[in-house]
Amino acid sequence: MHEPQPEIQHFAKNWQQQLAEAFNNIKDLCRYLHLAPDDLPVSAVAAENFPLRVPLSFAACIEKGNPNDPLLRQILPVNEELNIYPGFSHDPVGDLASATQTGVLHKYHGRVLLINTGSCAINCRYCFRRNFPYADLQLSKQKEDAAIQAIQDDATISEVILSGGDPLLLSDARLARLIQQLNNIEHLQRIRIHSRLPIVLPARITDELINSLKLSAKQIIIITHCNHANEISDRVVTACNSLKNSGITLFNQAVLLKGVNDNAKALCNLSEQLFSHGIIPYYLHLLDKATGTGHFKVSEQDALVLIQQVQAALPGYLVPKLVKEQAGAASKQAIF
Ligand SMILES: *Cc1c(COP(=O)(O)O)cnc(C)c1O
Ligand code: SF4
Repeated sequence: MHEPQPEIQHFAKNWQQQLAEAFNNIKDLCRYLHLAPDDLPVSAVAAENFPLRVPLSFAACIEKGNPNDPLLRQILPVNEELNIYPGFSHDPVGDLASATQTGVLHKYHGRVLLINTGSCAINCRYCFRRNFPYADLQLSKQKEDAAIQAIQDDATISEVILSGGDPLLLSDARLARLIQQLNNIEHLQRIRIHSRLPIVLPARITDELINSLKLSAKQIIIITHCNHANEISDRVVTACNSLKNSGITLFNQAVLLKGVNDNAKALCNLSEQLFSHGIIPYYLHLLDKATGTGHFKVSEQDALVLIQQVQAALPGYLVPKLVKEQAGAASKQAIF
């Protein structure tokens, strides 16, 4: 792969510096992608509501000069976000606002979600998180300790899921401390990490991180979040290989998004590419109906047709479970 000099210099930097240099405005991104902002349906108001944020490692996977690129659509603030769609609200899943206060969300049997940070390396336009101004939420040590104590006190919990935001934005020291504390809880079996960083900022997968994950006596599972095969660059492959080689099990969750991956070919290609790099397709989520995301919606009937096409084309283990989240339900709701 031949890269221009500025990119070589950028990718030689550590992940924190790469993150600090992420694109944060439409103009710079368009210049990099050889696109004219005037030719795109960009919206300054949408960008004010939820800022543009894209690391170069993700932007480099966008096809230059293509206004309809499926990766570009995931991150570009557009006019459609201002449309009103029936059934879309600020907190479609029902409890995120309160969970970000206490740091724990216990909805399903045996599993609790620990929300340590509200930050992400990338702002995905389809995300429910866009409506919560908690970008800088960082669970205080005190609250984190209280959350850990609550997990310690409940022997029915066998799995802790680090979520957010993106838990891999925590420092190596903070993560190592957290993993150590969780390791001390006898009834825990597994620690699961939900992160988009192996895909959007693969430089985050440092040797230090791998080492502290390897030290865990509890099994570690990482659920990556990748929606399209084009997101899997050589750097992503290298990062996932190091995770895989250190004994971590990798699964992927994707969101079914209109104009991004709502065709059987894209979904099949995603499953094939993930699996060829050691990642097992886990969930394909229907969109959470969050305000500002209605233009990404694929109907349940269309989703069902698509997943049946995928099922007809691929071995069963490459077909993700098509699910939706329903407030108050005891698990994700399987559609297929
Ligand atoms: C999605 C989710 C989980 C994990 O569910 P799995 O089906 O085990 O992947 C756990 N807790 C909460 C609150 C969730 O939203
Ligand atoms: S929580 Fe996940 S989907 Fe939402 S903005 Fe962050 S990385 Fe994107």
